[in-house]
Amino acid sequence: MKFSPPLPPAAGLTPPALESWLAERAEPAFRGRQILEWVFHHRVADWEEMTNLPRALRAALPEGFDLEPTRLVLDKTSSDVTDKLLLELRDGSLIETVLIRAPQQGVGQEQSRRTICLSTQVGCAYGCRFCASGLAGWKRDLSAGEIVAQVLEVCRLEEARSGRDPTGRVPFDNIVVMGMGEPLANYDALLAALTTINAPWGFNFGARRITVSTSGLVPQILSLAKEALQCRLAVSLHGATNEVRDQIMPINRKYPLEVLLPAVREFTRSHGRMVTLEFILIAEVNDSPEQAARLGEIAADLHAHVNLIPYNRVDGLPWERPSLERQEAFVEQVRRSRVSVTIRREKGGDISAACGQLRLKVEQDRPAPLIPSFSSFTGQG
Ligand code: SAH
Ligand code: SF4
Repeated sequence: MKFSPPLPPAAGLTPPALESWLAERAEPAFRGRQILEWVFHHRVADWEEMTNLPRALRAALPEGFDLEPTRLVLDKTSSDVTDKLLLELRDGSLIETVLIRAPQQGVGQEQSRRTICLSTQVGCAYGCRFCASGLAGWKRDLSAGEIVAQVLEVCRLEEARSGRDPTGRVPFDNIVVMGMGEPLANYDALLAALTTINAPWGFNFGARRITVSTSGLVPQILSLAKEALQCRLAVSLHGATNEVRDQIMPINRKYPLEVLLPAVREFTRSHGRMVTLEFILIAEVNDSPEQAARLGEIAADLHAHVNLIPYNRVDGLPWERPSLERQEAFVEQVRRSRVSVTIRREKGGDISAACGQLRLKVEQDRPAPLIPSFSSFTGQG
């Protein structure tokens, strides 16, 4: 049997790539603009819907590109706030994409701020001790098209639900690259994907509304600082001293705090925007008053925002979140350094911060039915 490799995703197309494909077929270059408009602006899921293209071209395109490289296998909604999508890629790998709706005060659900959380790898090689994505290790990097396809998947879902904005405006307000994987370990694909999301021929979505989260890959933070694309940066700190960080994040042995923090400072300097320091609160690991005080000093020094995240339990891992009192004491202590601090307080747990958990559960249940009953998921909280 002849093996045919998967087609490149249409979501990974760029104007030059499309132009050379068209030129090989003696098609005029302006068809490229039309195709990109159908893909990113109209977000069609069928080549036949591209009605202003000649029939022969419509027939050739499906042999060149994959319009649907992701397949929705599970949509787990948590109390109307979070939609966690489990997507299957062409090779059978599973990734997670999350849509978070943060209701705005005094306005209805349809007015809520919507944030998409994207995955960049299948699994993760960095093995942070508390994280579901790292548990099963790294399987592969996503292509730029597979990263962008997650945005298309969410757009189609939202537009099927609540209608399409007549101007083609995207149905979300922010993108966070905080799903499965370490985005900066898949740097080129990440950058290509963000470029498409930002480009006028792509989603035309502001780079300042995109946040990339990293566990602290120093060379790539410095590269990102030099890019023209002005996205935001969040750094997963989770330990305010090397001693604590070493215990839970193996990456700290390669890039300890004295190397990481100057890189974060450089990013802030070149981008002129506050970086966010993410800090998961794990009982008896990093929730002491001393850690809070040191975190406050670091954030003050870097002019960084602190985002505290009470730990979400992961099956098979021993960690717990601290008591509410202990969380409060931690917040208060950080505030003493006069830095901006937020703490996530979603009712029913925060499934957004726990990317990787849904996939892990389904992978563990395989080869049983691909879509087990919803009740077999513990959910968060
Ligand atoms: N690899 C990148 C981005 C993906 S992880 C990074 O580490 O930043 C996204 C965020 O979710 C990170 O801050 C990560 O530490 C956090 N996270 C992972 N497991 C979690 C859990 N069980 N509870 C709360 N946050 C978690
Ligand atoms: Fe990878 Fe981030 Fe999880 Fe660490 S926290 S294992 S870097 S996904």
